Amino acid sequence: MAARAARLRAEGKSILSLTAGEPDFRPPACAEEAAMQAIRDGRGRYTAAAGIVELREAVADTLVREAGLPYRADQIVVCNGAKIALAQAILALVERGDNVLLPTPCWTSYEEMVRLAEAEPRLVACGADGLPRVEDLEAARDDRTTMLLLNTPCNPTGAVYPEETLVSVGRWALEHGIRVMSDEIYAALVYGEARHLSPLAVVPELQQTGIWVGGMSKAYAMTGWRMGFLAAAPDVVEAVSTMQSQLASSANAISQHASVAALRGGDEDRERMRATFEARRDLVVERLHSIDGLRFPEPRGAFYVLADISPWLGRTDPDSGRTVESGDDFVELLLEQDLVALVPGSAFAAPHCVRLSFAASEDVLETALDRFAARLASLKA
Ligand code: PLP
Repeated sequence: MAARAARLRAEGKSILSLTAGEPDFRPPACAEEAAMQAIRDGRGRYTAAAGIVELREAVADTLVREAGLPYRADQIVVCNGAKIALAQAILALVERGDNVLLPTPCWTSYEEMVRLAEAEPRLVACGADGLPRVEDLEAARDDRTTMLLLNTPCNPTGAVYPEETLVSVGRWALEHGIRVMSDEIYAALVYGEARHLSPLAVVPELQQTGIWVGGMSKAYAMTGWRMGFLAAAPDVVEAVSTMQSQLASSANAISQHASVAALRGGDEDRERMRATFEARRDLVVERLHSIDGLRFPEPRGAFYVLADISPWLGRTDPDSGRTVESGDDFVELLLEQDLVALVPGSAFAAPHCVRLSFAASEDVLETALDRFAARLASLKA
């Protein structure tokens, strides 16, 4: 949808896009300066496969301080983004014929990464609150279930898993010898009373086989710098580092130096961006609550809302004569008629939903939400 919106823009149309999976901010100034200094100092060479020591130490310190996870620097692998950290870990650890449990709605790429490892992605629907339930996971489990992928805060629902969920799901995984891969890329973006907790900290025994994944993209607005991290037990670290040394040699050297600076000195910038997201979240939630019949879990983290448009399915748009049968249909309609771009829920295994990103300015959000509400209201039964 982002590409389609860009094409329409190139044709001269003014598109309001709520598709972004990335912050609309600059990275912390200290990161930009450290990158320029690294270039001036000639530090743009290959690094050790697992990353430079200073960065592995900075990540380990941050993990202890912010998540209570006691990984040492030599248990960290620096990768070219969290995405490739996840993919490499899956390729290294999941065998052909295994199955991996994915609580849904979930991020688009997990399913394909599991398939790439010639394993089976098993989608397990969460409750209306966006949280996984042990009974549903148990119903999907068999003796080839080797991994459970958790993502808190969650893209696309914004759910932040509470301690009870992490305890019950974590203990269940432990009991059945299932490895937990914990994607915590949005950890620093939580709002209101919500607190981020890592499943690997809540049930520490999971650290023996589990994998923590994080990165610089979301909380530090460094998406294009491609910087992600993985923390795990030494055998996993070795397997992923070996794979990385063959696939990528190492992560981007300049971005590694920038990330050390951001992790050591970028907290204020990070908090400023988080607070801005929180204000936007409040605005979007208030506006969406005023649409009668629209259901969505209130996002407590990340920067998305996943709205269920089921009550409008089967209705017809009087302007185009088109009947809306799915989130995909509504997203197309809204783009064509109102020049507002969203992502259809089908991308996250939630076909009756649409995802709105609030990584956009308040002006854009206000106008896009006016048009969104008006289009829903105009659909005829
Ligand atoms: N995990 C989730 C849930 C995401 O939403 C994204 C990006 O959209 C990533 C991982 C990938 O992040 P990175 O930019 O570090 O590869």
